[in-house]
Amino acid sequence: MIPSPLSSVTLDGRDFLIKRDDLIDPYLAGNKYRKLYTLIKTPKERYRKLISYGGTQSNAMLALAALCKEKEWSFQYFTKPLSERQKGEASGNYALARSLGMEHYEIPHEYYKERVASLRFNLDESTIVVDQGGAAHLAKEGLEQLACEIKEINSDIRSVATPSGTGTTALYLALALPEYRVYTTPSVGDALYLKEQMRVLEMIPKNLIILEPEKKYPFGKPNREFYEIYQKLLACEIEFDLLYAPLMWKMLLEQTSEPILYIHSGGVSGNASMLERYKALI
Ligand SMILES: *Cc1c(COP(=O)(O)O)cnc(C)c1O
Repeated sequence: MIPSPLSSVTLDGRDFLIKRDDLIDPYLAGNKYRKLYTLIKTPKERYRKLISYGGTQSNAMLALAALCKEKEWSFQYFTKPLSERQKGEASGNYALARSLGMEHYEIPHEYYKERVASLRFNLDESTIVVDQGGAAHLAKEGLEQLACEIKEINSDIRSVATPSGTGTTALYLALALPEYRVYTTPSVGDALYLKEQMRVLEMIPKNLIILEPEKKYPFGKPNREFYEIYQKLLACEIEFDLLYAPLMWKMLLEQTSEPILYIHSGGVSGNASMLERYKALI
């Protein structure tokens, strides 16, 4: 594979280098590309069906839909019931994933946990279940690949940053880059919750640094500060996602001072539906 390209931006007078994983593919990009790398390399004959579950705005869902389309695997995706607004959306990740052939199943709230827990029952060899957010144990290889690309960059920068949902990306990246600092920030819940999620996968290495905001920003809720950072970055001619990136950038600007390599984690395709929701705010 060819390494993803680099860009640079100047933000608040500071220069940042950006690893453009967002440019890898229109749908199967960013950290979802890295996390699904092992499956991307898997021969299409290996499976016939992929099953997953989670949120209906999710970038992982769209990446899986694109992967299954390419592999000619059927894709079944389980979620809690959708709002009428979401069902009607013509843009955003849900609409895109449907257009790529995703079979969507809504499970009533009261049965959701049970149903998800039973997805692996009676599976045949040709079916794979990918856990919410994109399969932790599968993620390692792709993130080691990213780490190799980072080490080959001709630069003195020894700090990298990428935002966390489950923390899988930041954790495996930090493990593969012991000689670098890896900054991340919790987008869903607080630092304690993020650490708990990471510890399920591996021991958290010392070079992984979680930057936490003073104020809570509920995940997925539009807010003016995020929009302003998004616009500032857009003025530098790079679009970032509205769910994860703005908080990471805010923390970097407020809590770090050294040169940083920002790993663009993708997710820009979800902005269409997020921007609709931002209209009420701006
Ligand atoms: C999924 C996602 C994340 C979070 O990745 P984790 O590995 O779950 O921490 C961050 N940024 C974007 C744009 C994403 O789509």
